Amino acid sequence: MRKKIVAGNWKCNTSLQEGVELAQAVNSVVLERGAEDVTVVLGVPFTHITKVIDTVNTDRINVSSQNCAAEAKGAFTGEVSASMVKSTGSTHVILGHSERREYYNETSEILNKKVALTLENGLTPIYCCGEPLTIREANNQNDFVKQQLEETVFTLSSEDFSKIVIAYEPIWAIGTGVTASTEQAQDMLAYIRSIIAEKYGNEIAEATSILYGGSCSPKNAAELFAQKDIDGGLIGGASLKPEDFLAIINAY
Ligand code: PGA
Repeated sequence: MRKKIVAGNWKCNTSLQEGVELAQAVNSVVLERGAEDVTVVLGVPFTHITKVIDTVNTDRINVSSQNCAAEAKGAFTGEVSASMVKSTGSTHVILGHSERREYYNETSEILNKKVALTLENGLTPIYCCGEPLTIREANNQNDFVKQQLEETVFTLSSEDFSKIVIAYEPIWAIGTGVTASTEQAQDMLAYIRSIIAEKYGNEIAEATSILYGGSCSPKNAAELFAQKDIDGGLIGGASLKPEDFLAIINAY
């Protein structure tokens, strides 16, 4: 059975105090819910990681960074390395988010270094992929996403590939309130699973958790998560509201 994962991506939001309050609220709703069928991850700003880890029950909530440096250590002012993230007790790293690709020029070459360092440090990469609107309009989304995967995570060994989580986030659905239709999301996730199977075989493809992200909300989560290939969500805006985030976890 694949892991079901609901991961919040707080992006560049909340002061430290607000972040701790949000983590407290998420922690109590997750503990109240009781069931442990869904892996919950909070993708928080670097500055918040240690405090959030101290705030939540880490048996139930995993804490993730939203990025890491492409270098192991050294003279890279302002960067935070994967080993530093690991040393906080964090377990996951969100990598390749479209905002980082677009605003910080993260290429496949850079992402390969980040994925490798994340894995070397025993962290789980949540690797994001997804096409812009123009590509979707031209119906080239499958080729686009295939290329993103081929240039990056498909260069990994089977052993390393089986440690990663994939998140498909069509750029036109992120923060726009426009969700991919259930069918569009399911079709793409099934396609991604099929190309994983071609590359690594059925067993690994069936074991890989693939998430959908992009305007996921309490309104659409249940329908999305009911799809055969959708193993959870990467949640931006709605992860900043504990009751919405809980409703999305409960959508399973
Ligand atoms: P959104 O963001 O849920 O606000 O659309 C998702 C993401 O960017 O991870």
